Amino acid sequence: MADYYGLLGLDHGASQDDIKKAYRKIARELHPDVNPDPEVQNKFKEVTAAYDTLSDPQKRQQYDMGAQGGFGGGFGGGGFSDIMDAFFGGGQNRGPRPRMRQGQDALIRVEVDLNEACFGTEREISVENAVTCTKCSGQGSADSSAPAMCQVCKGRGETQQVQRSFLGQVMTSRPCGSCQGYGSVIQNPCRECAGDGRVRARQNISVKIPPGVETGNRIQLAGRGEVGAGGGPAGDLYVEIVEAEHPFLIRDGHNLHVAIEVSFAAASLGTRVMVESLDGPIEVEVRPGTQSGATVAVRGKGMTRLRAATRGDLIVHVEVQTPHKLNREQEELLRKFATSRGEKPGDVKVKGHEQGFFSKFRDAFGR
Ligand SMILES: [Zn+2]
Ligand SMILES: [Zn+2]
Repeated sequence: MADYYGLLGLDHGASQDDIKKAYRKIARELHPDVNPDPEVQNKFKEVTAAYDTLSDPQKRQQYDMGAQGGFGGGFGGGGFSDIMDAFFGGGQNRGPRPRMRQGQDALIRVEVDLNEACFGTEREISVENAVTCTKCSGQGSADSSAPAMCQVCKGRGETQQVQRSFLGQVMTSRPCGSCQGYGSVIQNPCRECAGDGRVRARQNISVKIPPGVETGNRIQLAGRGEVGAGGGPAGDLYVEIVEAEHPFLIRDGHNLHVAIEVSFAAASLGTRVMVESLDGPIEVEVRPGTQSGATVAVRGKGMTRLRAATRGDLIVHVEVQTPHKLNREQEELLRKFATSRGEKPGDVKVKGHEQGFFSKFRDAFGR
């Protein structure tokens, strides 16, 4: 717990008057306008927290009793900003704010399937957006008259109040409530947009999605975002791509992966199989003696590289199925087969790391 009396250079018997005098003196030295150094500003905040507590008889009593932790460091209840406002005015002189403002950017997500991500597509999307009010052409006035100067703030956009405090008279300024800080008032607001100059409307926008996009890619449509208030220019619309999962193809950057099952006999003797790809069924050769977990790369049948005409590969993962549910004849054939291979019951070979499953996994995914 900070020593609040020490920070203000006081002893525990200090009167309210002593506390005020001490804080006034220190605050003038440490005020941000005098000394913007961050370290000094931290000190200023501490001192202000000390004053916040000690100047309030109830908080001071709790602090003296050592229960100060309950106040969250003395900043509870907005004490700090209240004090800042009372002493130094609520913020800088800003002047009237302009009615015309730049519109905000907008973001919409669009789901594409793997096929569209690979080959590109054109999409009609529906966006709800702020658009220019056609009734007043964005000017906000029903009779196209120019806004008149605010009589309350005389066009300054803010009102000032003089407050008495123990620092003497202080001036606080706040945005004018009568004109919301614009300094002018639209006397006959457009009924369509209530003077804002824009309305919300649903628009259909056609988006070209280039070949090779992936989740997280954003397509920027300049000037298709929200129109600005008071007839201001529009922001941009960003279309973010979300790629839908494919039922059996897995994307890994520019490559695609697919798993197929072949019988033990076919893997041993070699075969040609038709594999479904983004380009339709393609023939893939499984060489004689293919082991389970082996991969066959089909060049150029993977994903398109964004902004390039080339494509990655389709990697076919071969899984060899061990025959099961054998009938008597098949069992007999397999026993004969094993005997002719010189296999004996109980034959087993332990493989080293480099030959095992893990190295195959690493090869397949380049990891
Ligand atoms: Zn309007
Ligand atoms: Zn005003």
